[in-house]
Amino acid sequence: MSTRGRRPVRRSPLPGYKACRNCKAIVPEESDKCPVCGGTEFTKDWMGLIIILKPEESCIAKKLGITKEGMYAIEVL
Ligand SMILES: [Zn+2]
Repeated sequence: MSTRGRRPVRRSPLPGYKACRNCKAIVPEESDKCPVCGGTEFTKDWMGLIIILKPEESCIAKKLGITKEGMYAIEVL
């Protein structure tokens, strides 16, 4: 089995947005600071988009460690 089968994602699912490397929040490209965790490291290589409205009631939010409502990437590459 090849270990090189995974293709890099060249285009984010949502043009004009990037994902925080720390908490996976999706923020507009022009932002230089994450509104959720205050992080400053971002990537355009992210996959999947999830919108969390009520983190306290969402098992997905708990699984991903999300405590604040907003848009998040499911996977940051
Ligand atoms: Zn963040």
